[in-house]
Amino acid sequence: MSDNLFTIADKLIKNHSLTLQEYEDLILGYSKGLSDYIKANAVKVRKDVYSNKVFVRGLIEISNICKNNCFYCGIRAGNYYCQRYRLTPKEIMGCCVEGYELGFRTFVLQGGEDGFYTDEILCHLIENIKKVFPDCAVTLSLGERSRESYQRLYDAGADRYLLRHEAADKELYEKLHPYDMSFENRMECLKNLKEIGFQTGCGFMVGAPYQTAKHIAKDLKFIEEFKPDMCGIGPFIPHRDTIYAKENAGSADLTCYLLSIIRLIHPNILLPATTALGTVKDDGRERGILSGANVVMPNLSPVSVRKKYDLYDNKISTGAEGAEQRAQLEKRMKNIGYEVVTARGDVITRKE
Ligand code: SAM
Repeated sequence: MSDNLFTIADKLIKNHSLTLQEYEDLILGYSKGLSDYIKANAVKVRKDVYSNKVFVRGLIEISNICKNNCFYCGIRAGNYYCQRYRLTPKEIMGCCVEGYELGFRTFVLQGGEDGFYTDEILCHLIENIKKVFPDCAVTLSLGERSRESYQRLYDAGADRYLLRHEAADKELYEKLHPYDMSFENRMECLKNLKEIGFQTGCGFMVGAPYQTAKHIAKDLKFIEEFKPDMCGIGPFIPHRDTIYAKENAGSADLTCYLLSIIRLIHPNILLPATTALGTVKDDGRERGILSGANVVMPNLSPVSVRKKYDLYDNKISTGAEGAEQRAQLEKRMKNIGYEVVTARGDVITRKE
């Protein structure tokens, strides 16, 4: 059995592709030995493409107001305990000004699906950011919108869009989301984003309620075939005001193992060591980088709102100002042999 698993790993390293059954076998057959082997190869591939550079993104959590009710999420519309906030475009510009001085060259505007952020307001904001910081990339992570809306945001200058697919299995997707959200629409949005020309990111939570190895295998196959430029995966973490409050959090080891597998599927992918990974383990982000991740997204939101972007319990939020965070991050990455760089950090297009 274990010889066979190493053969499957070698096939992944060579072909960047496996069958659904083989992905499932790798997940079910997880062992320290197999994981170390896959990790070493993922790191080698990552270093061939991105050397020891770590790209940083300034994450600006622009609003925790959301019309959706994703069952797992602390800022879902039905959570009346959530203290809502919304940053104004001026406040967001202020975060960018601070971030630019600290060496950030990508700003990620993330938030709930907040109707205040119409195309007009967003386009104006994106144009402004690009005018003041022409050497910076703008990434959006604002959920599902129409194709026309995505097109307008792209035309206004946005470069990248993160929209986790959440689950490539329709039944699992439907267990995690209410009836008024649709698997088909999520997939359609991702297809539209890619066709429009965004550097597009998908992703999912590791250890989400009801998730099995079969489901994860489907996620990996989807990632293989969709060929995203970015992929955000992090452990599911329960939130006290959701129906999944009593569920267990996903594992950091499995998350790191999957980061390595994803790096081997797409050697050039932009792969963040996520905040959720840093929340379940103090050294989670370091472990993510040491498993093949190449992106970290420190929080640039004003300290006063950070605790309110409360997706899951105990989300790390140091209260440290941007400069302090950036210095800490540089030190932590240096300690493991990696270097935080001041760069847009675009995906390197793969030579087929
Ligand atoms: N509204 C946008 C969207 O739907 O893509 C962006 C914001 S949404 C809160 C960002 C991501 O947070 C989701 O894609 C989800 O995977 C993650 N998330 C939400 N609740 C979580 C939880 N309890 N544990 C871990 N990740 C969670």
